[in-house]
Amino acid sequence: MKEVQGQSFLQNHPCYNKDAAANWGRLHLPVAPNCNIQCNYCNRKYDCANENRPGVTQHVYTPQEAAAFVHKVFDARKDISVVGIAGPGDPMCDADKTLETFRLVKKDFPHVMLCLSSNGLAVPDYVDEIADLGITHVTITANAIDPEIAKHVYSMVRYDGNIYKGIDGARILLERQAESIRKLKEKNIIVKINTVVVPDVNMDHVPAIAKQAEAWGVDLMNCIAMIPVHDTAFENHRGPTAEEIDNMRQFIGHYVPQMTHCKRCRADAIGRLCEA
Ligand code: SF4
Ligand code: SF4
Repeated sequence: MKEVQGQSFLQNHPCYNKDAAANWGRLHLPVAPNCNIQCNYCNRKYDCANENRPGVTQHVYTPQEAAAFVHKVFDARKDISVVGIAGPGDPMCDADKTLETFRLVKKDFPHVMLCLSSNGLAVPDYVDEIADLGITHVTITANAIDPEIAKHVYSMVRYDGNIYKGIDGARILLERQAESIRKLKEKNIIVKINTVVVPDVNMDHVPAIAKQAEAWGVDLMNCIAMIPVHDTAFENHRGPTAEEIDNMRQFIGHYVPQMTHCKRCRADAIGRLCEA
């Protein structure tokens, strides 16, 4: 299997380096409540299911509250190597709040790594700012590279003030995700893709996504088993078994390194992954 490459100081990111996860933690700041798409496995009463485990909706901070909270956490513990924003909605749907939060954190803690997770729809408009702010790691959730498959994963895409459904929405989202990843890699940002695996929807398509990820130069891929959630289009779908996910990772691991220790953290997670 391929292994993640990267500069040494970046090796303390607990998600990108399994060995670092024993000693280093992440701090998620829940500053972004809104979303610009609808994934068929997501119930918006919960966190963004692309990165986070379903949980009760938590408090959403303003950027200033979030920055003050970082001070409090860093006063109490020295094992946080990365500050991330992963929801509870899509961080780049609330780009102003997300980028302002990163700006405040970077000003007071210039050495901390910054990490962002998004569905990618709005990311192309902000790649320069993301790079200028020193955000080192970005995750894009890529559940398909073929709009014919993506149209079964997403029921709505809100773009440029319009609502798109079906194949039209799928095409826009996939084009924007590809553009996000290409532009981020041009800026030498470390890119992970999350792929939510749904049997009978995109599971057979995941190797094609991994192959494209290799062509994009993606650094790490995180295959996430879909958990059926009440009141969603996929509530009656089954999630993949652990064996199916393991076999998948073995099969596609020669295209792109596979993350195997994701804890599906909430948007307000704090600490080492073993504390999740
Ligand atoms: Fe839910 Fe995240 Fe999908 Fe938005 S991007 S619909 S918050 S899973
Ligand atoms: Fe890391 Fe997975 Fe938690 Fe995201 S959800 S912070 S990738 S362990």
